[in-house]
Amino acid sequence: MGRRFLWRKVSSIPQVTYFKPAGIRLTELEEVKLLVEEAEAIRLKDLDGLEQEECAGKMNVSRTTYSRILDSARQKIADALLNGKAIRIEGGNFEMATRRFRCIAGHEWEVPFESLITSSPEVCPECKTPSIMPLFPSGIFPGKGQQRRHGQRNVNRL
Ligand SMILES: [Zn+2]
Repeated sequence: MGRRFLWRKVSSIPQVTYFKPAGIRLTELEEVKLLVEEAEAIRLKDLDGLEQEECAGKMNVSRTTYSRILDSARQKIADALLNGKAIRIEGGNFEMATRRFRCIAGHEWEVPFESLITSSPEVCPECKTPSIMPLFPSGIFPGKGQQRRHGQRNVNRL
């Protein structure tokens, strides 16, 4: 029987996903992999300054889980910063708090997750075609380096 897993809710994916220290040869460069939900945990707490309980709520996890994600994120960032390692943000187990749609003509747009509960979009906001489909059904980055998502907009919903 498979383990039930709760997806961590993430409201935005960082636009820059690779950080490299200056003056270190690529061959000598070590890399730290920061999961997308770890970046989100840092964003909520350290950037937005939310209380831990609020952060946990936004990510749809328990406080214990949230604090474990946050600790892991901080540990990785400290390791990279102080030991001169690169940081790659990718992978993890998360679900976007927004859904992305695409129409048959290739227009893409995002809809806040909450608004989908009441109504799904019916036409493309740009060309009004009803031929639309949702993208990235569960927002999973496979974590194998195949997720260079250029053009991913930063969605700030506060
Ligand atoms: Zn369209």
